[in-house]
Amino acid sequence: MLSLLLASWVAGQGQALELRYPAEEGITNVTVRWNGHDVPFVRRGDAWLAMVGVDLDSRPGEHAVNVTFSYADGRDRVVREPVTVRSESYPTTELTVEERYVELSPEDQARAEREGAETTAIYDTFTPERYWTTAFQVPVEGAKDGRNFGHRRVFNGQPRAPHSGADLRARTGTPVLAANRGRVVLAKDLFYSGNAVFIDHGQGLFTTYLHLSRIDVGVGDIVERGQLLGLAGATGRVTGPHLHWGVRILDARVDPFSLLRLGAQ
Ligand SMILES: [Zn+2]
Repeated sequence: MLSLLLASWVAGQGQALELRYPAEEGITNVTVRWNGHDVPFVRRGDAWLAMVGVDLDSRPGEHAVNVTFSYADGRDRVVREPVTVRSESYPTTELTVEERYVELSPEDQARAEREGAETTAIYDTFTPERYWTTAFQVPVEGAKDGRNFGHRRVFNGQPRAPHSGADLRARTGTPVLAANRGRVVLAKDLFYSGNAVFIDHGQGLFTTYLHLSRIDVGVGDIVERGQLLGLAGATGRVTGPHLHWGVRILDARVDPFSLLRLGAQ
């Protein structure tokens, strides 16, 4: 039986990865230990599925994760599975923004730190329930791709954190739609991100929508896939109007389009 369960997982730095096993007779639960979280697989048809992510800055090469299979007779079996992380090369971009986003006033510095702690706390929460049941969609109608994911960034000559989302072309006022079903966990103005909406889709998967000109949802709302969240804009640290769309999976920063390519349900 064990031979059927061996998997071969490969993903690039900054990519979503779907883990899959056939639903064999007698298995009642499957759990993977990933980035410090125990992630339960969900049963979909004849397969067990879990969505995970390989962070932008993960070390390339061979890794291994523990997968636990629970059986109807009460036994547990732990399998050590190899995961190969491929190296991706991301370019460096030089950007010019308002000086106050680079040389922060003491007030802005304190605010940015407070908001950083708040967003970290959000990403650290793990909602066991999986809110979504269909594939993710782009949040701007007709968008085919995004730009700048993973870019090493230099703002006004100073190096800053890598760009952890995809920038979608969108004029101010363009409707911004929920990529999938989930619960709104942040909806307000942030120093760097401007008007921001964060959605918790469950199982450690979050999507974020930044620099909006208007927010139409509130914290606690359950939003459906394709529901209007607000309008695109140019608030926060930007060079012009666009939608910054981000995806975090179990604390890994991944390219949102890698999630779409999986077509995962
Ligand atoms: Zn961006």
